[in-house]
Amino acid sequence: MPFNNIQRAKTWRNAILGMGHYRSVFAITLFSILMSIIITGVIMTVFWWEGIDVLLKSLLVAAIIPGIVAPLATNFVVKLLFELEDLQTQLLEMVNRDPLTKVYSRRYLMDCLEIESARTLRSNEPMSLLILDVDNFKSINDRYGHGNGDIVLQEIAQVCESTLRPYDVIARFGGEEFVVILLNTPLPEACTVAERIRENVAVTTIELTSGETIRSTISLGISLFTPPDPKCINLLSRADRGLYKAKNNGRNQWAIAD
Ligand code: GH3
Ligand code: MG
Ligand code: MG
Repeated sequence: MPFNNIQRAKTWRNAILGMGHYRSVFAITLFSILMSIIITGVIMTVFWWEGIDVLLKSLLVAAIIPGIVAPLATNFVVKLLFELEDLQTQLLEMVNRDPLTKVYSRRYLMDCLEIESARTLRSNEPMSLLILDVDNFKSINDRYGHGNGDIVLQEIAQVCESTLRPYDVIARFGGEEFVVILLNTPLPEACTVAERIRENVAVTTIELTSGETIRSTISLGISLFTPPDPKCINLLSRADRGLYKAKNNGRNQWAIAD
């Protein structure tokens, strides 16, 4: 579909979605009746004039037929449109969210990093990044089982998300690693956030399937965006070096790469 047609289709779709199901069925029916009356009126007056009586009868028929047909047809199409919108939302959720922890997916994160780095360059605002890795997670899996390992990941993701501001972005980067984009955040402030997350995770008790409770810790690496780095490869690798340092220094802490 050419771009203009796509835009036009979107405008119509948004208008219908905005109005809601019944109001759009009503509006389209009304529009069909009006158009039918106008077209019939013009044809009967200009090309087929047989007097006022015939004109009025024709206009009545022109109003009744779309008044019956339009609601039935429109109801069906509008219903399909709403179902399509629901499916699209579900599809976007599947692509953009990690199914286990419900935080954003790695794919969403990479798109977001590209967009935010461009915005950061334009606005000259600082942007920081954190990489979080669960400490000794393999031994949690080995000791309590994979299912309990999943519970630990879900709980940690939830603690991180509730510690962050609503406009910060947290994503599952892989296995037991998460990445946080801190928008409009200079390095000292990013360190404060990292410490707050570390502490909140460390004090959280996690209930396992057996009812037993455990605590887990995380290590974090921090980096500040420095241009030019359009896909944020340096930003990620510097944060990763910070994480490596935090692990080497004994875990349950944050670090900035040298
Ligand atoms: P370190 O403190 O150095 O990070 O040690 P670690 O044990 O956390 O790191 P390691 O890389 O040795 O182990 C990570 C483990 O995470 C191994 C893998 O089986 C497990 N893992 C990865 N994805 C998942 C998942 O989705 N669920 C569960 N339960 N475990 C996972
Ligand atoms: Mg890891
Ligand atoms: Mg780990």
